[in-house]
Amino acid sequence: MNRVLIVGAGGVSRVVVHKCAQHPEIFEEITLASRTLSKCDAIVADIKNYPRPIKTEQVDADRVDQLVALIEKVRPDLLINVALPYQDLTIMEACLQTGVHYMDTANYEHPDEAKFCYAPQWALQKRFEEAGLLALLGCGFDPGVTNVYTAYAKKHHFDKMNRVDIIDCNAGDHGYPFATNFNPEINIREVSAKGRFYKQGSWIETDPLSVKHVFDFPHSIGPKDIYLLYHEEMESLTKHYPEIQQMRFWMTFGQSYLTHLKVLENVGMTGIKPILFEGKEIVPLQFLKRLLPDPASLGPRTVGKTCIGIWVSGEKENRPKSYYLFNICDHQECYREVGAQAVSYTTGVPAALGAKLILTGAWSGKGVYNVEQFDPDPFMNEIGDWGLPWEETFPNCPTFEDALYPGTI
Ligand code: NDP
Repeated sequence: MNRVLIVGAGGVSRVVVHKCAQHPEIFEEITLASRTLSKCDAIVADIKNYPRPIKTEQVDADRVDQLVALIEKVRPDLLINVALPYQDLTIMEACLQTGVHYMDTANYEHPDEAKFCYAPQWALQKRFEEAGLLALLGCGFDPGVTNVYTAYAKKHHFDKMNRVDIIDCNAGDHGYPFATNFNPEINIREVSAKGRFYKQGSWIETDPLSVKHVFDFPHSIGPKDIYLLYHEEMESLTKHYPEIQQMRFWMTFGQSYLTHLKVLENVGMTGIKPILFEGKEIVPLQFLKRLLPDPASLGPRTVGKTCIGIWVSGEKENRPKSYYLFNICDHQECYREVGAQAVSYTTGVPAALGAKLILTGAWSGKGVYNVEQFDPDPFMNEIGDWGLPWEETFPNCPTFEDALYPGTI
């Protein structure tokens, strides 16, 4: 009997629960736990056709003792962490203490420092290995599918990958002047941080959102501004593929989003250090989060598509080769299926499929793993049926630069 415990009850969790419930032959028992029990109950109330009751529980995932008690009660085979990156280490610790496999979709961040890296989670390698447990890190879309795509590109198309560019486009419109498509606090911390890219063994820093190009996206999405950001999968991919000479991550932003973000930064609303307000300590960014639309509420009003993919240039049989591999996802189709917009959907679907591959043994190991360390084929064979089909093209131009607008792809 396969049991999963899903922790966190936000936008991504909604998709994970729906997708697990669509496969009762794999996920035979599902428990959903989070800080706010009513949010778990609301997600479960929308699940149709799952043959057994989905249990809900309250837990503060910052507390290892509460997590241990919950895990001992539920006795899951796998814990899927879709709470916030702040909880990664406490949840991993609870999994180690109780002997349960772990997976997440975002790497650990300390609440007081807007900086993320894999070091604290990779440091648990030996403990997971000795316990005979698997911890799978970053199994959403980016990180997650982008890691699988890179592994797939290497396995099937390249003897050597020289340059990899990850391009994340959200061409959706929710109609608000300013809102974030996933947790506002995590999103704004990520976007307002310095950019960084990898070149020949070094990391090169850029000012936030200071490097911009225009990329012509497929399927009538068309040309969009893309901005260079730092993103966590670059850390693991450059480690696991040392042949990569240059790696960058790009994300689209609309002008309204950027103008609002600039104003909010300028007036101090994106700060993460507590300030004293009327005798009470508040964190400006957490206060801002309370004012912004809940990402989970954007589903019904978001129209348009996302397009996330990788562009690789390298060599195959001593000849230069370029390769673009991507997924297109439609916000409204996601909403009709699971009641969530495409940013939550593209994160939750890979998490649920990754969970299936762990539970069925298609992906197995002892220790702390990133997604690219597993065989990409079982994932690529199934992800289309799970809702995220992929397409590949072999562009005529030698590098990503040549493909930038007004070039063609
Ligand atoms: P939400 O803010 O919508 O949901 C987070 C959930 O975690 C909420 O239900 C929240 O509870 C719960 N939570 C927060 N703190 C605790 C705690 N101490 N104990 C228990 N539960 C807690 O976020 P999203 O669903 O948008 O994102 C979920 C995760 O997915 C994040 O880690 C995010 O970084 C990651 N992500 C990954 C992507 C990828 O492609 N890899 C893309 C997008 C997101 P409450 O409701 O009470 O606040």
